[in-house]
Amino acid sequence: MEKAAYRVLLYYLYTDIENPEEAAQQHLEYCKSIGLKGRILIAKEGINGTVSGTIEQTEQYMNDMKADRRFKDIIFKIDEAEGHAFKKMHVRPRPELVTLRLHEEDVDPRVTTGRYLKPMEWLEKLKDPNTIVLDARNKYEYDLGHFDGAIRPDIDYFRELPEWVDENREMLEGKEILTYCTGGIRCEKFSGWLKEKGYDNVNHLEGGIVTYGKDEEARGRGWKGQCYVFDERISVPINQEEHIVVGRDHFDGEPCERYINCADPSCNKQILASEENEAFFLGACTHQCRISPRNRYVIREGLTDSQVEEQLQKIDERLKVTK
Ligand SMILES: [Zn+2]
Repeated sequence: MEKAAYRVLLYYLYTDIENPEEAAQQHLEYCKSIGLKGRILIAKEGINGTVSGTIEQTEQYMNDMKADRRFKDIIFKIDEAEGHAFKKMHVRPRPELVTLRLHEEDVDPRVTTGRYLKPMEWLEKLKDPNTIVLDARNKYEYDLGHFDGAIRPDIDYFRELPEWVDENREMLEGKEILTYCTGGIRCEKFSGWLKEKGYDNVNHLEGGIVTYGKDEEARGRGWKGQCYVFDERISVPINQEEHIVVGRDHFDGEPCERYINCADPSCNKQILASEENEAFFLGACTHQCRISPRNRYVIREGLTDSQVEEQLQKIDERLKVTK
């Protein structure tokens, strides 16, 4: 089999970084000098990034990072790729890598976090009826794929998770909690927050979903659908044994794993939609978004006002039938 020429690296590390602004600036220059593309956040509490490059570029990056005493403990998750997964290189300073509490002291995962589970330990616990599996990601991520039986918190942003937990206490009380996210960065903080809140039996999946999917023993078992990722690939496969589609088309509820952004720039919501439905519904999630004067789909396709009007009529008719 021919080897892919590119790689995507996903990583994070909670570690002490002095002067994140300066570190971000230096790191950006360095990344550009070796030809990487991607998105990296640097905060006092650590670093979080996804970058893409050729085998040589990514190899050099990993070696250089391991030689830096601040970053030597980073575990890189490596995916083969056919090209870059980003258009540009960004390194941004941030107050926190991921934010759970606004205007309050955030949890410090360097101090408090849950129990780490290796992939096979995780798979065992998944089957245990006394555990409860809580997805620590956002709705649109869950909707494309998740662990079988996992609870879907109704949130659009990670920082809304604490409030959701407070409102759903009875669901979690007395249970052994298993929580997970894409690469592990969010639930490392979230599990610490749960412990601070008095839940003491808290586990999280070490290395996140992407590590689980690569584990040779676990082979991604128990995962349904695809895993949402924050680069141009949008999703990656996890379960190596079977592929059960759980995503549902926003418009007709048919199985679907194709994400688009709503064509109205002021909405921009991520929805699952087939190519046919994207075209039929003018690329937009609601009537309000369809008639936006800035509808990107209408502009891109060069539709005239009367063509849009005609299509809106067809949409109306179809929605009447399905109601
Ligand atoms: Zn919309």
